Amino acid sequence: MTLRLRLSLAFLLVVIVPLTVAAVVVGRGVPQALDSAARNRVLASRAGAGALVQSTCRTVRLAAEVLGREAAVGAKQPAAQDIVDRGTVGYAVVTSAAGKVLGVAGGVTRASGSAPVPPAALGSCSRGTPAAAGIRAIADSVDLRSTRGAGLGAAGVAIPLDREFATSLSRSANADVTLVSGGTVVTSTLPDAAAATLARDAEALVRAGEAKEISGRLAAATSIGPGQPVVVVSVARPAVGSLELLVVAVLIAVLLLAAVIGWGLARMTTRPLVALSEAAERVAGGDLETRIDVTSDDEVGQLATSFNDMTDRLRGYVGALQSSRDELRRNLARLGDTLSSTHDLGRILGVILETAVAETRSSAGAIYVVADGRDELVLRAAHALDDRGARVGDVIGVGAGVTGGVAASGEAVRGHVGAPGLVAAPTEPRGEEMISVPLRTTGGVLGVLNLYDRFDGRPYDAGDLETIRTFASQAAVALDNVLLHQEAQRLSITDGLTGLRNYRYFQQAISRETERAVRFGRPMGLLMLDLDHFKDVNDTHGHQVGDAVLIEVADRVRAEVREVDLVARYGGEEFAVVLPETDREGAEHIAERICERVRSRPLHAAGVELRLTVSIGVAVLPEDGTAPSALVRAADKALYAAKGAGRDQWRSTGAG
Ligand code: GH3
Ligand code: MG
Ligand code: MG
Repeated sequence: MTLRLRLSLAFLLVVIVPLTVAAVVVGRGVPQALDSAARNRVLASRAGAGALVQSTCRTVRLAAEVLGREAAVGAKQPAAQDIVDRGTVGYAVVTSAAGKVLGVAGGVTRASGSAPVPPAALGSCSRGTPAAAGIRAIADSVDLRSTRGAGLGAAGVAIPLDREFATSLSRSANADVTLVSGGTVVTSTLPDAAAATLARDAEALVRAGEAKEISGRLAAATSIGPGQPVVVVSVARPAVGSLELLVVAVLIAVLLLAAVIGWGLARMTTRPLVALSEAAERVAGGDLETRIDVTSDDEVGQLATSFNDMTDRLRGYVGALQSSRDELRRNLARLGDTLSSTHDLGRILGVILETAVAETRSSAGAIYVVADGRDELVLRAAHALDDRGARVGDVIGVGAGVTGGVAASGEAVRGHVGAPGLVAAPTEPRGEEMISVPLRTTGGVLGVLNLYDRFDGRPYDAGDLETIRTFASQAAVALDNVLLHQEAQRLSITDGLTGLRNYRYFQQAISRETERAVRFGRPMGLLMLDLDHFKDVNDTHGHQVGDAVLIEVADRVRAEVREVDLVARYGGEEFAVVLPETDREGAEHIAERICERVRSRPLHAAGVELRLTVSIGVAVLPEDGTAPSALVRAADKALYAAKGAGRDQWRSTGAG
């Protein structure tokens, strides 16, 4: 059942209950009240009619006495005529003592016959004497007597009970009037049938003394005396049937109206809820732009406002999530690209650091890498460290400060700098809060990744540490790969015995350097060295001592040249030295220094002390050629010359 229907029914119920009670009260109470009012009215009408009949009776009595007095002393006929003419009565008669009619005027209603009705036959309403059968009148009579008291006859008057009398009674009683005598209708203001029905029960009504219902009419009756007509007053019963119908009709109409109003109210009440539910469905479907119109400031309006606030915030959250996800995606893509495609240590460390800094929203970060000797860490990548007292190249011992401690233990740390276990060394970057995680592989710790101070000022939580720890283990694998690759590369161009560049590297280097020198028009020198009588060393002391001598000589040669110069083992006990930006004079000077250095001090090799000399051939670009092969050929030639000249000396192509 919908809320709208429930509300409608509730409204209807609220209306139905009082309305039904009211209908019952009206349907039951009003007919009763009408009935009792009608009864009272009938009784009042009866009293009025009774009083009028009594008064008529007295009038008749007075008229009879007046007639009697006049007839006793005067002419009879004029007296009778006179009293009728005055309009007091409708009939007057005077008879002699013998019963002869002496005067008569007017007429009286009678069942049959036309002869004058004598006074005795009229009856007397005052004395309660009934009239003769068939006479229908209110009448009275008196005896005529002489002054001496002798009976002279009788006089009688009557007011006929005709339709006119009944109408005047009815008018003054304000009800229908039926005059009944001996169970039959004398006259009535009602139709014959209704009057006859009342006439039948007239005597019973007089006895009952109260209003009764007879054939749909309320009736009451009174009698003015024995033998006198009974006056029955009646009114139509109030029509309660139509009232009930009216009540039922009004009830139905009001209920229909209430149902319509209830439905309308329920619609009005539930419309905002329907709108809200539709909006919620749209939001659930992903449409976060959904808004509800706030049309009021009532509870529904507040609900709409809250709903709009909710979608606004939701939009904010989703936006933040999306941008965070996009950033993560960008970082991962950059990281993936870099890790898979480069063997550039600096670049890879930079990407690892930038990713870690972005991921934890840190304000600074550093990566230290374990140096070759394994007892030092070198700061190799920095993010915003300038004002934190550290820069790339800084060195910290393994075991020293936070970074050294993490490298030594291999365990990550997190917290406030200065707390136990987080005491920084003076050379370490300054910070309030930090995370320090080792970059470690199965082979051991390669370095340490440090992050300092979140942008939002909050300390790093366990989630940050876990994120960075996971990330660091991946980064360490990448770092390990780069370091391995670097090592492999180094080995591929290094002579295993002396640690000098090998022949292969020399070939590349001399090509590169000659090209550069030619392009920029710069000089370049090349020395070719060969140890003198080296075969004898091997023969005398064995190959091991020979190898040690080669290492020692290599170190001495390296010590005599600049950083930018290249010393390579050309083969066996022959070395080559490439001297960029060096002209003949410079090259010869270096050759001389090398000869001197080897010659001057005895060599200590594998516990054996021995003396050795070296012969050197010098060639220079551009005089001796501009191609590597030409230069090598020229230097070889000069070397040969030096050997030929007695060894332990240098020869230059120019000098040769
Ligand atoms: P010279 O003054 O004419 O150069 O006399 P030499 O004995 O040095 O003659 P040569 O240059 O022909 O001899 C090369 C010798 O160097 C041969 C070999 O016994 C020795 N030799 C070459 N390479 C190595 C090496 O890697 N280790 C050792 N121990 N000896 C080597
Ligand atoms: Mg040789
Ligand atoms: Mg030699």
